[in-house]
Amino acid sequence: LLRVERLSKSYGTLEVLREVSVELRRGETLCVIGPSGSGKSTLLRCLNLLESPDSGDVWLGGTKLTDPRADLDAARARIGMVFQHFNLFPHMTVERNISIALTTVKGMNREQAHGIALRKLEEVGLADFAGQRPTRLSGGQQQRVAIARSLAMEPEVMLFDEATSALDPELVKDVLAVMKDLAAGGMTMAVVTHEMGFAREAADRVAFMCDGVLAEIGTPNHMFDQPGHPRLRQFLSQVL
Ligand code: ATP
Ligand code: MG
Repeated sequence: LLRVERLSKSYGTLEVLREVSVELRRGETLCVIGPSGSGKSTLLRCLNLLESPDSGDVWLGGTKLTDPRADLDAARARIGMVFQHFNLFPHMTVERNISIALTTVKGMNREQAHGIALRKLEEVGLADFAGQRPTRLSGGQQQRVAIARSLAMEPEVMLFDEATSALDPELVKDVLAVMKDLAAGGMTMAVVTHEMGFAREAADRVAFMCDGVLAEIGTPNHMFDQPGHPRLRQFLSQVL
């Protein structure tokens, strides 16, 4: 569904991505692991063209996003992204944080948007919080609102970049549970994470990024129990 072909990206003389190729199949959850600075976030940002690659192509279904004539706004509407910092609007209710893009971007009427917002809040277990300000919620709840906001746009693909890294340990579990539900429900997802337990349980495949290349990719069992690449073995010995 989402395919990158020989993607390269440099910042000045620093080669961050070197001819990375990978495909995210429909309904698949791909977890991307690897050391800090290896290019994981850059790869994710290139997937929805928040960052423009120097060379290589990104395909979403039959649409070539790296084509200069591609409609990037239309393409980005098909890809949801959740970051470490959720950036909710503090002066709006939780419900409005979710419905605002539906009325302004998608042109829905207020009632329709409200209904969708409530449904998505239910999906992430926060139906009771619709009328609250986000600042009254815990970090984990706010991140679940951010996920609901993304889901409300009905994306075909969801990208997560360390969605739980900024959270206190006891709040991580609920966010991961929402992500697991999504994965189990057939969402197509690319998840950059340091949560190896999540990668093992929820991923269909795990990709190990190292120095700007996907050094190894395989099933969780393969990656965690029979890692081939010496750098992957070294990485796992440090994080497990
Ligand atoms: P982490 O696990 O710490 O989030 P990462 O694997 O996500 O790391 P990236 O954020 O993709 O790594 O960064 C890869 C390299 O590119 C790093 O050396 C980083 O300093 C550099 N880099 C990233 N964004 C920029 C930028 N906008 N300008 C210059 N250098 C950048
Ligand atoms: Mg990163």
